[in-house]
Amino acid sequence: RLIIGQAKLACDLIQKGEFKKIVSVGGGMHHASSAYGSGFCIYNDVAFAARYLIENYGLERILILDTDAHAGNGGSVNTGTCGYFYSDAKVLFIDLHQDPRTIYPGAGYASDIGQGPGRGFTINIPMPLLAGFESYQLAFEEIVEPIAEEFKPQIIIRNGGSDPHFADQLTNLGLPVRGFRMIGEKVRKLSEICQDKEIDLIASGYDKEVLPYAWLALISGLAGFKIEVEEPVSIPQRFQTDYSLEATKEVVGQVKKYHKDYWKCFA
Ligand SMILES: [Zn+2]
Repeated sequence: RLIIGQAKLACDLIQKGEFKKIVSVGGGMHHASSAYGSGFCIYNDVAFAARYLIENYGLERILILDTDAHAGNGGSVNTGTCGYFYSDAKVLFIDLHQDPRTIYPGAGYASDIGQGPGRGFTINIPMPLLAGFESYQLAFEEIVEPIAEEFKPQIIIRNGGSDPHFADQLTNLGLPVRGFRMIGEKVRKLSEICQDKEIDLIASGYDKEVLPYAWLALISGLAGFKIEVEEPVSIPQRFQTDYSLEATKEVVGQVKKYHKDYWKCFA
């Protein structure tokens, strides 16, 4: 409930023009559903923030960008953040996560694109195993950025912590710490579409050694801090090159195919 309070305060402060960007540490409880909690999440602050902005401030275009390694669950099974907005065109939900065939919660396939008026407004990007810096960069440049520019959100809500890091024991992705800075920088750039308005809900990360570095790198990118953030653990040989880039190109192609009827940038 504290986390929900943080999200609510963040929405109010931004909408009242007191701040442009707010980071809610501990937020991003994207697996919680409207009727029950799951996956370490009880109340979904991501969905709450979007709903609250729609109902109380009349917003009509909100971009939720979920970069957590786990999918914000699925619309067809009506769970997690995705379940809340699967039929809703006011919320564009873009979710980058590890291939759902290989990880909890087993949802978030590229073919899940929303339903009814929400068709085309759920964009799942299932990242191949071990996907690293170049893969994430490609997914942002080829999908997230062009769609966000076309959608023209009034605010961006991003969630996700350090669990896409290569050392995370609960996941099998390959992002180094500099990858989190890159994501932060890209989100900062994207927020220029909406007068720099962005709410960042940071949680997750199951490697205690890596977590503070990755979160700091993410926040530094987001805020434009020039501080150096080092890689806290040595990078194993297999993560020194992003061997998943080719597989990511295929995923990017699939996502574009599923969405070509809904977005001019992919037509
Ligand atoms: Zn996660």
